[in-house]
Amino acid sequence: MTRKLFVTTALPYANAAFHIGHMMEYIQADIWVRFQRMQRDAGTQRVVHFVGADDTHGTPIMIAAEKEGVTPQEFVAKIAAGRAQYLDGFHIAFDNWHSTDSPENVDLSQSIYRRLRDNGLIYTKTVDRFYDTAKGMFLADRNIKGECPVCHAKDQYGDNCEVCGAAYQPTELINPYSVFTGSTPILKPSEQYFFKLSDPRCFQFLKEWLNTPGRLQPEMVNKVSEWLGENGEKLADWDISRDAPYFGIPIPDAPGKFFYVWLDAPVGYLASLKNYFEKKGIDYEAFLNDPAAEQVHFIGKDIVSFHLLFWPAMLNFSGHPIIDKLKVNVHGHLTVNNEKMSKSRGTGISPLRYLDLKMNPEWLRYYLAFKLNAKVEDLDFTGEDFVARVNSDLIGKYVNIASRCAGFIAKRFDGKLASTLSDDAKQWIARALNGEHGERQASIAANFEAREFGKALREIMEVADVANRYVDENKPWILAKDETKTAELHDVCTAALILFRQLTILLSPVLPHVAAQVRAFLGDDAYSWDDTQGERVTAPLLGRTINAYSHLMQRVDAKMVEDLFDKPAPAATPAAETAVTTAEPAAPAAAVATAEASDIEPLAPEISIDDFTKIDLRVAKIVNCEHVEGAGKLLRLTLDVGEGRYRNVFSGIKSAYQPEQLIGKLTVVVANLAPRKMKFGVSEGMVLCASAQDEKANPGLYLLEPVSGAQPGMRIR
Ligand SMILES: [Zn+2]
Repeated sequence: MTRKLFVTTALPYANAAFHIGHMMEYIQADIWVRFQRMQRDAGTQRVVHFVGADDTHGTPIMIAAEKEGVTPQEFVAKIAAGRAQYLDGFHIAFDNWHSTDSPENVDLSQSIYRRLRDNGLIYTKTVDRFYDTAKGMFLADRNIKGECPVCHAKDQYGDNCEVCGAAYQPTELINPYSVFTGSTPILKPSEQYFFKLSDPRCFQFLKEWLNTPGRLQPEMVNKVSEWLGENGEKLADWDISRDAPYFGIPIPDAPGKFFYVWLDAPVGYLASLKNYFEKKGIDYEAFLNDPAAEQVHFIGKDIVSFHLLFWPAMLNFSGHPIIDKLKVNVHGHLTVNNEKMSKSRGTGISPLRYLDLKMNPEWLRYYLAFKLNAKVEDLDFTGEDFVARVNSDLIGKYVNIASRCAGFIAKRFDGKLASTLSDDAKQWIARALNGEHGERQASIAANFEAREFGKALREIMEVADVANRYVDENKPWILAKDETKTAELHDVCTAALILFRQLTILLSPVLPHVAAQVRAFLGDDAYSWDDTQGERVTAPLLGRTINAYSHLMQRVDAKMVEDLFDKPAPAATPAAETAVTTAEPAAPAAAVATAEASDIEPLAPEISIDDFTKIDLRVAKIVNCEHVEGAGKLLRLTLDVGEGRYRNVFSGIKSAYQPEQLIGKLTVVVANLAPRKMKFGVSEGMVLCASAQDEKANPGLYLLEPVSGAQPGMRIR
């Protein structure tokens, strides 16, 4: 049966250009799509529709447009016009790029809403909302600022504090003000529309849906199951309405009300497909109802709650046929040199700068593919690793085969390959393509299919290793010096190019541009995955006259990679980057300030020993450490302070450490600090870190660690 695949990636929010994280997701999806498109022969054929769109609605875009003095539509159009240079630049071949601000999306969103309403899953409730009387509009959480009710930091947003991480309602802010006018907002009752996710039907459905084999990665099944609770008690209703003025889709029969952007954003996948099918004359309804159709969706781990709770429930209870066809693949985040990307720390990589530096886009495709697997794991871009991986694999192992053999075919044989192969050559080809466990191409295919790209590429490089060994052992450059060895030279170079062609076919989902160059060189048509099997391995090249070889790819120059990284930006952003954990207790080390005293932070006012002893500092063992879903700066530490129980402590040190670096280490905790309720749970203490006063100029953050021998629970005095 022909599989009919509808492949999508998360819709980027249209308030900014693409960053390197977007490119990673698109490259991942594009490789998978290209692999599927190579399944062309009868029995394995796949038809793929790969579509994307800009996510355009909501307050941030309204505000950005207002700042530029243009309409939201004009603002979004400008962002959309900039997309192609990135997508084309990295060979990402979407069939269609559309917008959530489109007639298709309005129709589809409103029709899904009407069916949910008819199904008894929409209700209204009057709630108090902040209202800016000067501007005449209701204020979204991010349009209100004020003093944090927990740590009293000034100028914090209405939903959570960027200094202490606490989450709260906008109505809890002290001295709230509107970001538009600076005026004090009033509370005004407003009727809001809710999607009833707490309905028992939603729980029943979601539980069954997410446990359907093949739909989600196992770790996501576990995560979403936690969000459901044992009996759905954790599912809360969802406010899907926003008051005018709002850039969005009007709610039917509700004047002045618009859908919250997250309601219509995922509908945009279907809107883009519908728009594409209309252009192509393909029947949209027939496709949705086709048993052979599947939607395969690539998203990042930060947006799973929208995609794995609300979205499937909405599709199901609006009777949408795509719900049974939906498979979701969640990936981790891309870090750079093991840090979360941040311009002020000088670790961001600009995709456009990459292209401007004339760096080969296929280097990045290969490098990211090599690091990608089917798990929800972060992957790291490290400059040195990138240079080493690309130069060793692509240049040293792959391109090298052709560059060592192609010249002899041109010079000595008028470009004509041998018509037959020796038994020795045949054996080497078989050895390269059949590993110890049977045909490698089958397991490489299985790994591409399962999105285990790193495993697929490792195996392809094993084929390349055998091919290189063959060339090294037969030394065509020596054979070429001996007139009596002409036939042997012809045989060796032909066999090597047959293997080179096989490697090219196997790599072509990752290296589409190089594959096109190789096809031109060898005189091939478009590659199909079946070209890696049986007669189709050797037969096409035997006796064929090929074209002149021109160099396929340069080595990566390490200097280029240096230029790729952002230079640390001059101080521009306010305290947002400040870590939660600060080393407040005065450090005794200041006593030896002589030789290098320069621009250290001025000392705090003198205290007595009694003041110091109020602070109970203890040695703590970090028994576990993990990322906190949704928190940009925090790590969750599980600490053993020798009390016979574990403490939970959140610390803003994510920029400085990976969780696995800290597990098992000893550190110092302020053990008698009042517990603090934060957005992600209660923090029972504070771990100590050293940092420079000017964190922008000198962003390092260093967790304290006692000299070995200290035991959990020991007091620091
Ligand atoms: Zn705070």
